[in-house]
Amino acid sequence: MPTTHAKAGLIARLHDPQYARWASQIRKTGGCRQPVHLRGKVEHIDRATGELLHRYSTHLEPNGVLRVACKTRRASRCPSCAETYRADTYQLVRAGLVGGKGVPETVTAHPCLFVTLTAPSFGVVHTRTEKNGKVLPCHARRNAETCPHGVVMSCTARHGADETCLGEPLCPDCYDYAGSVLFNATAPELWRRFTEALRRRFARTSGLTLKELRERLVISFAKVAEYQRRGVVHFHAVIRLDGPDGPTSPPPAWAIADALADAVQHAASAVTVTIPAVAGEPSRILRWGDQLDVRQITMSGELTEQAVAAYIAKYATKAAECVGTLDRRVQLLDDLAALPVREHARRLIAECLRLGSLEELADLRLIQWAHMLGFRGHFSTKSRRYSTTLGALRAARADHMRDEQITTGRLPLFEEDTVLVLAHWEYAGQGLSAGDALLAATLTGRPFSPSTPIGSGA
Ligand SMILES: [Zn+2]
Ligand SMILES: [Zn+2]
Ligand SMILES: [Zn+2]
Repeated sequence: MPTTHAKAGLIARLHDPQYARWASQIRKTGGCRQPVHLRGKVEHIDRATGELLHRYSTHLEPNGVLRVACKTRRASRCPSCAETYRADTYQLVRAGLVGGKGVPETVTAHPCLFVTLTAPSFGVVHTRTEKNGKVLPCHARRNAETCPHGVVMSCTARHGADETCLGEPLCPDCYDYAGSVLFNATAPELWRRFTEALRRRFARTSGLTLKELRERLVISFAKVAEYQRRGVVHFHAVIRLDGPDGPTSPPPAWAIADALADAVQHAASAVTVTIPAVAGEPSRILRWGDQLDVRQITMSGELTEQAVAAYIAKYATKAAECVGTLDRRVQLLDDLAALPVREHARRLIAECLRLGSLEELADLRLIQWAHMLGFRGHFSTKSRRYSTTLGALRAARADHMRDEQITTGRLPLFEEDTVLVLAHWEYAGQGLSAGDALLAATLTGRPFSPSTPIGSGA
């Protein structure tokens, strides 16, 4: 429920003489929950004469700032911007599969796989598995062992889909928390080594050197990281064979999906990352889990492009908070016991803080990434040749906004080469006051959710 304070703020904004301009800014952010405030000016100057043709300054905007969308990908921070990011990711992955956005349609004929690389086990956790529409017992074992902490390593419950115990260890004291966060921390490096090993294997089985392979074809990747409920990441990837010029050129006829699948299987089992022994911790060799899923993507059939693009896009906006941790960095002064997270996440965060303080592991930056349970990689990445980029999609949208400003008379139309554009912007804060948030929700048809404004210029 909106507070009296929020309602008073809303009324004040409605009576503001600049209300119409403020409302227009808010509509342009598309319902962003935490718009960024910019202060600055743009000047258009004639290169030949030095004459000032046009000038825009935030000076005359409401509160002297321009409000722009925050563009986060995290749904827990801003549902509206995360939805834009999800839609963009979908378009990007889809273009790499069926063409569009500058990728030719002929790309559909290129051999293409959908691969899931998982994390290994760090201890027995509660799970929910369905078989033929029936939920199976979680971890039923006859003559199950009892662990040193007195826990019987068996669970015969058929868990519901929303049960909070899912992903939690049967015995937290037996669970390898260090292994779990170290795996997350090294996953980006494991992925890098995987792609290298894949290229090497594919070259070898094709009877070529790496250089010869590069002259004949390109292996392109698009991937997203997904958190499993136990708090480790795994990767979903689209892996495609292209000709030497990328998606516009066909791969050689001998380069087929089966050969690519063989190289994926080999690379996934071959690569490792070694963590040296440190105070109280043995040295570890980290690798992908045994559960490797490799499927061919086809136009029709079991696994279509549409399904893959939607699947990848879904995970692009999810972060670690879906396993019950924080959606912000853990501060050094945070009282770990008071954080609003579930116990399993608290222990993973604590392990990040403990290992992160060891000098030998400083490179893993576990303290900075404790809220991500050790993972500091990008959520969705793609190789250069895969398809269009998120930047290109954003630029297309910016062009559209600019066109709109020209047509509505806010920006005069200039010949780009003859005009010098000088722009100066500075960050002036972020977020909406309670009253503004309430009004913004009404304007954009998004649910009201108060956020805390940061900095000045609220
Ligand atoms: Zn936003
Ligand atoms: Zn269970
Ligand atoms: Zn135990």
